[in-house]
Amino acid sequence: MLEFRAVDLHLYNTYSRKKEAFQPIEDGVVRMYHCGPTVYQRPHIGNYRAFVFADLLRRVLEIAGYEVIQVMNLTDVGHLQDDADQGEDKLEAQARKEQVDPWQIVAKVSAQFFADLEALGVQPAHHYPRATDHIEEMVEMIQLLLEKGHAYQVGENIYFDVHSFPHYGKLSGNRLDELEAGARLAINPEKKHPADFALWKSDAKHLMKWETVFGPHGYPGWHIECSAMARKYLGEHFDIHTGGEDNVFPHHECEIAQSCSAWDGPFVNLWMHTKFLQVDGGKMGKSLGNAYSLDDLAARGFSALDFRFLLLRGHYRSPLNFTWEAMQGAQEARKNLNDWRNRLLAVTDEKQAQAVDWRSGSAICQARKTFLAALADDLNTPEALAALFPLRNAFLQGHWSGAENAEALALLLQANQVFAFLQQQESSTLSDEEVEALIAARGEARLAKDFARADALRDELSAAGIILEDTAEGVQWFRS
Ligand code: AMP
Ligand code: ZN
Repeated sequence: MLEFRAVDLHLYNTYSRKKEAFQPIEDGVVRMYHCGPTVYQRPHIGNYRAFVFADLLRRVLEIAGYEVIQVMNLTDVGHLQDDADQGEDKLEAQARKEQVDPWQIVAKVSAQFFADLEALGVQPAHHYPRATDHIEEMVEMIQLLLEKGHAYQVGENIYFDVHSFPHYGKLSGNRLDELEAGARLAINPEKKHPADFALWKSDAKHLMKWETVFGPHGYPGWHIECSAMARKYLGEHFDIHTGGEDNVFPHHECEIAQSCSAWDGPFVNLWMHTKFLQVDGGKMGKSLGNAYSLDDLAARGFSALDFRFLLLRGHYRSPLNFTWEAMQGAQEARKNLNDWRNRLLAVTDEKQAQAVDWRSGSAICQARKTFLAALADDLNTPEALAALFPLRNAFLQGHWSGAENAEALALLLQANQVFAFLQQQESSTLSDEEVEALIAARGEARLAKDFARADALRDELSAAGIILEDTAEGVQWFRS
């Protein structure tokens, strides 16, 4: 355990616009909701910035000793092309393009999404609710909003009346008068106010549609989906809600209005938003050809974990620029830390690391304090990582004691609980004794000047993932 509570976790709240000391509603338990992917296309690396952040947040909360209940939705209907009430449903547009059923797209893209999450070392959330499985909950919530006078129905369409909720605009800093002035061009005559947003839409041509009390063929608005699903799995008032920065408005602003109005109380205590991942200093986009997938990265020799590491080298509230050079740098840095772990394992072991008591006052203890303080300060991952590299350099100079080796291994393994960047260790086919025996045989072959045999033995070791280093003190080995 990293003893975070001693360090006090501070997290930035988009709503209050400041860092706040974190305090869950229920002692010891954190409930959080993340806006997940719209499953019309395989998520791109930008989307994964938001999802890896959600994983990081969970891991930090868990090592701080909290029980975390984590929900990430899958949007499989109702997300229109302009994020508000205009344009075609993203899923249906894609289905038309591919000339398939929208449900086939949902199945294909969801499978790709879960495979990507696994490759990225993301721990599965406790629930992945799909919007289309929660139509009933949405209808109930909309009925409540109608009863309470926060919504109105025009034909089969239902809109939220933003003037009925005095705090509309507080999260995003938007003002109703400015929003309404800006909306004049695209005025929808059904709306009482241009900033009102759709809770339920009716369209006989829509492929994914439901017969409800509102009429024979309707489908939900994107915002109501998250409000209804969050309530089902986390309750009316919960701790943390996250998304990318584009979710602040209109999506999260509308969620707050609906949920607070329906349940007459507070909704979410802490709103956290990830800044966008950019590519080559600009926006990512399908039409620009730079909305890379994890497969595009793999085709250039970069693993999902290399990409995870690139993400964690940036702070989630700073824009992050993806370039192939930055990817190369992340790959090398990750490899260096991975090698260091393996070298440490060659000179100390996990048992010794577990026994470390952190009271020696060594440079490693200091680095651990810096590491923890950086994470506790609004998840400052670049600063936390920066505390590790000088230790690796010191280790490579070769003057460390056994106690220092054990402390460094302990710190690195703890860091990996949060960052999850180290390669899973392949279970080598050779035991330690077998490795030692092969190394001894290679030494004898060299003494006998039988270099062919010595090389063959080295190759055999290498094939089993064993790396040899000839040093002044003899041969050292570690597992790759
Ligand atoms: P979507 O599939 O469009 O619903 O987006 C899923 C999540 O990815 C949302 O939380 C978005 O805010 C987030 N997102 C989209 N593009 C980016 C990007 N370039 N960088 C970071 N997050 C993004
Ligand atoms: Zn959402």
